Amino acid sequence: MFQDLSDRIQEQAYNILGLRLSPRQTRQFCIYGDLLLDWNQRVNLTRITDPEEVIVKHFVDSLAIAKLAKGNRMADIGTGAGFPGIPIKIINPDCKMYLVDSGAKKLEFLEVVIAELGLINTETIHARAEDFGRNPQFRNSFDTVTSRAVARLPVLLEYAIPLLKQNGQFLAAKGLMVEEELKESGKALDLLGGELQGVENFTLGVSAEHRAIVIVKKVRKTPEEYPRRAGTPTRRPLV
Ligand code: SAM
Repeated sequence: MFQDLSDRIQEQAYNILGLRLSPRQTRQFCIYGDLLLDWNQRVNLTRITDPEEVIVKHFVDSLAIAKLAKGNRMADIGTGAGFPGIPIKIINPDCKMYLVDSGAKKLEFLEVVIAELGLINTETIHARAEDFGRNPQFRNSFDTVTSRAVARLPVLLEYAIPLLKQNGQFLAAKGLMVEEELKESGKALDLLGGELQGVENFTLGVSAEHRAIVIVKKVRKTPEEYPRRAGTPTRRPLV
C-alpha cells in the first residue's frame, strides 16, 4: 500500500522539512508503513491508521527530530513502534541506535522492522528507561537521546540526561504544552546537569498541529542517585 505513496512520502518530507529522501530511504519508509499497519491489526502500536496520516504524523514528525540528531551513538527512549528512532536511523544509516521500551510486544515488531529494512547497528532493549540509565554500559555514553510522547519534561529529563555524555544532547518532541512543561523543568535541569539550548517550533503541514522540539545539552556530570528507582520519576517528578 505504501509503495503507491512513495512520491507522497518524498513530497511531504521535502515540503514540510526541506528534506530530500533517497530512493532507498523512501523504500524503507514504505516497508515500515506496511509493517506498521499490518501488525497494528494484532498488536496495539498506533491509533493512526490512515496512511496519509501515518506519513505526516509519524514519519515527517519523526524526521523533524532526525534532522537535529548528531553524533554516532543514539538512543530512543519509550520508542513504541519506533518513533522517532527508526526514522532517525533511516536517515543516519551509520549511527549506532538503541531502541528502548518497557513493552516486549512492540520490540518484537521492531525486530521485524530492523530485519526487513536491513538496518545494521540497531538494537532493541527491553527495559525501563530508569534501569537503562543506571546501567554502566549505557550511562554517560550517548551523543543524542530522543523521546516522543512518553512523559512530561521533568520526568523525561531524569530518564535522558544520565545517559548523555558530556555535551551530548537530548531532543524531546512536545506539543502545545511545551511552555508549561519548560516552566516546571528548571529544577530537574539543574539537579541533573542539563542546560536548555532552545526550542524548535514547527507545524505539520496538513493538520497544522503545533509541534516543538526541546533541545537540552548535558553540561555537567549527573549525580549517581539519578535516575531514581523505576516508577519514582513519574510518582515524584523533580519539580
Ligand atoms: N515514542 C513512540 C511514539 O511517539 O509513537 C511511542 C509513544 S507511546 C505513547 C509511549 C511508550 O513509552 C510506550 O511504548 C511505553 O511502553 C513506553 N514507556 C513509558 N514509560 C517508559 C519507561 N519508563 N521506560 C521505557 N519505556 C517506557
